Amino acid sequence: MKKIQFDSALVGTEWHDDVVLSIEQGRIVAIDDSDSMPVDERVPAVALPGMVNVHSHAFQRAFAGLSEFHTAERDSFWTWRSLMFDFLLRFTPGEIYEVAKQLYVEMLNAGYTWVGEFHYVHNDRDGRPYPRMSELADAIRRAAADAGIGLCLLPTLYQRGGFKNEGLTAGQKRFAMDAESFVELVGRCREYIGQQNDYQVGVAIHSLRAVAAEVGNDVLAVLKTGKSFPIHMHVAEQLAEVKACQEVEGKRSVEFLFERYAVDENWCLIHATHLNDWELQAIAKSQAVVGLCPTTEANLGDGIFRMPEFCEAGGRFAIGGDSHMGVDLREELRLIEYAQRLSRRERVVLGPRSQSSGRFLYEQAARGGAAALGIGAGVISVGERADLTLIDQNSSAIDGAQHDRLLDRLVFCNPGGNPIAGTMVGGKLRMKGLEGG
Ligand SMILES: [Zn+2]
Repeated sequence: MKKIQFDSALVGTEWHDDVVLSIEQGRIVAIDDSDSMPVDERVPAVALPGMVNVHSHAFQRAFAGLSEFHTAERDSFWTWRSLMFDFLLRFTPGEIYEVAKQLYVEMLNAGYTWVGEFHYVHNDRDGRPYPRMSELADAIRRAAADAGIGLCLLPTLYQRGGFKNEGLTAGQKRFAMDAESFVELVGRCREYIGQQNDYQVGVAIHSLRAVAAEVGNDVLAVLKTGKSFPIHMHVAEQLAEVKACQEVEGKRSVEFLFERYAVDENWCLIHATHLNDWELQAIAKSQAVVGLCPTTEANLGDGIFRMPEFCEAGGRFAIGGDSHMGVDLREELRLIEYAQRLSRRERVVLGPRSQSSGRFLYEQAARGGAAALGIGAGVISVGERADLTLIDQNSSAIDGAQHDRLLDRLVFCNPGGNPIAGTMVGGKLRMKGLEGG
């Protein structure tokens, strides 16, 4: 057991100063005041619940910034996507490993403790399966282990080009996998649970358009174990997708999702940008987590999630880097609130009146993220994982602020520099050089 003292920590929902966390086998086993307690280590930082990056396509990190030019009369998500598919055709397993590892180190430096890797690139460049079907999933898994970030690997099923069972284009051939092979792939990924530290496996259905609902349901039924696991899906990111779903299935995307799948608290719906009232209430009621990816959604011109209504309805949310235009939890959180301020011409829109905006956004995203990856974390509490995001109180962004004001400055104040002092993942401390120390 190791006793580590922090300047301050958000324990449960309360701030504790000079607090000592006792950590054993990656979990918090006791929380005490520092008085008269000998400690093994003193860390000059403020401990926050570890922030989860709930939605990542690691290879897209290499593509960030390479599509900011005109390719059509009206550029969109769809024109971006065809450039991205072309770009992906070049990657070898070694390159995917290198990009993912660098990205995961960047995530740790940015304060993220876990990543949900929505992994849909399975095949070789010519579209044929690798001799070892888990070649690329293994590359992702090793990259996370070597970087030291927690990984929830989400092998992703992707089978068709649209709601009318259109075939896959040349750019999508690396994603194709039949249901049987997919079940086998998930099984292989699951073999490392318990062997690799800080590792978890969920399942992703790419989207309603890329997988027929009957196939998705069959696969989920076959993969069922005694224990629940995270289920992730992209949904309602683009209006064109909602419209196509309406045309073919006679229902909007999220309506159709709830009609055909048993969505519950194990689900994480990525984006969910375009919702009517019924859909918004259905998601909130199911307690599925909405995985918001604000910098990517802004970059791709997706639209603005109905966050005030969703929070009002008791919905849960998390943040994801998605295409990795930003690897910055502060930017993701800030943009959630700023999108509302800009569109409503109002300030401090989200959260209850009793809480500041930064506190609300950080605390809820940390909880939602841990829930969406099925890990016991997201709050600093006895029995939970020792996953922490550590803040340098002397950095220029924080400038000595404490408690809720620290969170507000963390989220909203960006004078340059990085106030993230380090992270702890499963009890393993990883400090960076302190900006203010
Ligand atoms: Zn995505």
